[in-house]
Amino acid sequence: MSVRVRFAPSPTGPLHIGGLRTALFNYLFARKHKGTFILRIEDTDQSRFVPGTEEYITESLRWCHLDIDEGPARGGPYQPYRQSERKNLYRQYANLLLQSGNAYLAFDTPEEIEQYRKQAESEDRTFQYDMSVRNKLKNSLSLDETEVKRLINSGAPYVIRFKMPENEEVRINDLIRGEVSFHTSTLDDKVLFKSDGLPTYHLANVTDDYMMKITHVIRGEEWLPSLPLHVLLYKAFGWEEQMPRFAHLPLILKPGGQGKLSKRDGDKMGFPVFPLQWKDPNTGELSSGYRESGYFPEAVVNMLALLGWNPGTDQEIFSLDELAEVFSLDRVGKAGARFDPEKVKWYNQQYLKQKSENELTAMLTPLLESKGIKADFSALQKAVGLVKERATFVADLWKEASFFFVPPQEYDQATVKKVWREGTASLMKDVIKLLSNPGPFSNSGIESAIKDYAEKHQIGMGKIMNPLRLLLVGGSFGPHLIDIMVHLGKEETLRRIDTGIKIIE
Ligand code: GLU
Repeated sequence: MSVRVRFAPSPTGPLHIGGLRTALFNYLFARKHKGTFILRIEDTDQSRFVPGTEEYITESLRWCHLDIDEGPARGGPYQPYRQSERKNLYRQYANLLLQSGNAYLAFDTPEEIEQYRKQAESEDRTFQYDMSVRNKLKNSLSLDETEVKRLINSGAPYVIRFKMPENEEVRINDLIRGEVSFHTSTLDDKVLFKSDGLPTYHLANVTDDYMMKITHVIRGEEWLPSLPLHVLLYKAFGWEEQMPRFAHLPLILKPGGQGKLSKRDGDKMGFPVFPLQWKDPNTGELSSGYRESGYFPEAVVNMLALLGWNPGTDQEIFSLDELAEVFSLDRVGKAGARFDPEKVKWYNQQYLKQKSENELTAMLTPLLESKGIKADFSALQKAVGLVKERATFVADLWKEASFFFVPPQEYDQATVKKVWREGTASLMKDVIKLLSNPGPFSNSGIESAIKDYAEKHQIGMGKIMNPLRLLLVGGSFGPHLIDIMVHLGKEETLRRIDTGIKIIE
């Protein structure tokens, strides 16, 4: 039987990094087993629908190269893949459960339920619609048949609830957690079908997994409490043979380890928790994204893969294809995985280093154009080569290399204080004379000229090179100084020294 897995987000907000990891693990599992990766949009809760989020989800997957085999845009043999477009399919399944006595109609109004809740609260209990109270409430189990018919005919709104079997132990083998067990006495009679004519998550999710022939359900730990209900639904439908295997992924924890990483944490703690930037359509609030912050998708994917999964070796850098080869659910841990924003930066740096100078220059060019800076491609490429080692993001390349193209507008005061002494100006004037000599303006030529001078006048090299760097770049940063001079060329080097002396003095 070929593997079929689904990523089944609800469009209730932008996908966060945890959701993206769920998508990634499903994708990797599908590729590893030459199976099918399905995107299914679970949009039956219309009250929580947020416009734009489905597009956001699709774009995030595309950015990370998690190619979908079946889904709303791609279509496929089990389409449609958006639950709102499947809404006519669910009632018949709810009816099957009614017929077999595994579900019942409940007429209690939201106000009545609220009343029970308040009453319980005042008695220090929590209200649960379950086997202990169902016979005392307004439903087709407690009311007689004629009353039920009368209510239906009068148009009274009702929901369909699952009739949780009494006194049963539900045992199931989770592919990550091993055997997990639940006792039905603790579980409530969940609503399967709402009065608005739409199924709840539980009914839609289970029947769609069945109809779409899903073989493995890989999802976050927060769905573990729903597992016994889902297993009992498969049983009630008589689908036990077709029931998928379940794997519940560990939580992603805050960097400090205290609690689950939440959507709010990112901008509070200074790092993105979303793959792409998101603007809330209701409040206009902007949340930062990895893409807009200059991260490579490879870096984000690589970091996410190791959040809860380990390869069993020291290897840290994996391409998506490599991951698909080595990934297995056996190596996903149960314990929460701590999110480390510094590690994503480290990955970004590693992937930046792997890119060619040509590629990086092409990435940098639009950034410069947006600043209105025109730089010759091959000159830029050379500069990129000189500063690549110091960059984590493409934008850093410009921070590190801009002085190649734009002379210093100001000089770092701390550096001036440190390296500019009495006599430095005349020393720099000597350097101008030295470098003005005819002859090739090459690394070895410049180096030997400065060295000879230093020896002859008994001056340490630092006394010459540090102020020289200040004049050429505006501070104490940058690559090897003689490389900078060669790159700038003789004329520009001399001009910067001359201007700098005048400004600083
Ligand atoms: N719609 C659920 C979600 O938003 C899917 C959970 C599942 O995979 O069963 O995560």
